[in-house]
Amino acid sequence: MHEKAIAVKIHEPDETLEFVEEQIEELKELARTANIEIVETVIFKKRPIVPATFLGKGRIEYLKEVITEANVDLLIADFELSPVQIRNLERLLEVRVMERYQLILTIFIRHARTKQAKIQVELAHLQYMLPRLTRMWTHLSRERGGIGLKGAGEKEIETDRRRIRNQIAVLKRKLKKIQQQSETKRKQRYKIPRVAMVGYTNSGKSTLMNTLAKANVKAEDKLFATLDTTVRRIEFKETKFLLSDTVGFIRKLPPTLVEAFKSTLAEAVEADIIMIVADISNPFYIEQIQTVRKILVELNAINKPIILVLNKIDKIPEDELQELKNSWLTKEFNTVFISAEHKINIDKLRKKVVLEIRKL
Ligand code: GDP
Ligand code: MG
Repeated sequence: MHEKAIAVKIHEPDETLEFVEEQIEELKELARTANIEIVETVIFKKRPIVPATFLGKGRIEYLKEVITEANVDLLIADFELSPVQIRNLERLLEVRVMERYQLILTIFIRHARTKQAKIQVELAHLQYMLPRLTRMWTHLSRERGGIGLKGAGEKEIETDRRRIRNQIAVLKRKLKKIQQQSETKRKQRYKIPRVAMVGYTNSGKSTLMNTLAKANVKAEDKLFATLDTTVRRIEFKETKFLLSDTVGFIRKLPPTLVEAFKSTLAEAVEADIIMIVADISNPFYIEQIQTVRKILVELNAINKPIILVLNKIDKIPEDELQELKNSWLTKEFNTVFISAEHKINIDKLRKKVVLEIRKL
């Protein structure tokens, strides 16, 4: 049961086409995770913002045509919109409008499993609402100002704001308590070693999971699929381990969502071994590996064996690959170059995992 949508992206002057493509891929992957299929993407060059609608009249007309042609009821914007802009666009385009943030939040809400993750997501949602509430009400009170409801509106904003602030404070206290508790009672729940895959969206985690497990995960395998459905038991030369596919990293993750995202990485924190999966055909893979590592450090999950899995070697030229094999990456990390899709060097990876397990 999925919904169809069109996506709109603004091409910033400093962005290369390659980067734009990459972002669109990511947006599609995110949408797919939320059960939304992006059937068409419209890219606009950056222009001055029209305050009421963000986009200019001509562009709105153009979008309307695309929407009619694609026959969709949803538009996803890969940029930030104010509540007023969303409402105005919805009215003019006659479809639902969702900004990137809402898309990610929807996914997080659906995939938060632990109590901690749920609270983090709720917290993120409230923090998102707080400044927007003001703008929303300001807009309303201005509209109603002429009929003397201005005062009432302001009072309501204050009450709502206070309520949200209180809720935020309560949730923060709860979180602190949970964090203290889990630190003292975190125990190994499984007897067999656990290996967690972490990495950006589209790096090939699900494909690798399939290749390693030799079991076919459903075709509509989701990026943020729940931990219970993405943990596989793997056996290789009498060594057994559990492999988990964790949530995918996302570029430009809104700040209020960072904590929520981290708490969905609990699986990685508790794993015995971590596999960082990176797509070396992606021009930003070095930054991505660094971001992943940084987050793992913040989560205190770095002091365990890490295998850096450099995936999609089939997509880069041989000489480039040789260069990479001699680069600082292989000196700094325990690396293995593979193709998850074309099943290249999978045995090498298996052996590395087994070696690390035996050392535990
Ligand atoms: P995830 O978001 O990390 O789970 O990534 P997926 O496993 O869904 O893979 C993202 C895309 O990359 C899919 O279209 C895969 O078919 C493709 N892919 C995965 N591994 C490889 C590989 O080794 N080579 C090539 N060429 N494509 C791959
Ligand atoms: Mg995946």
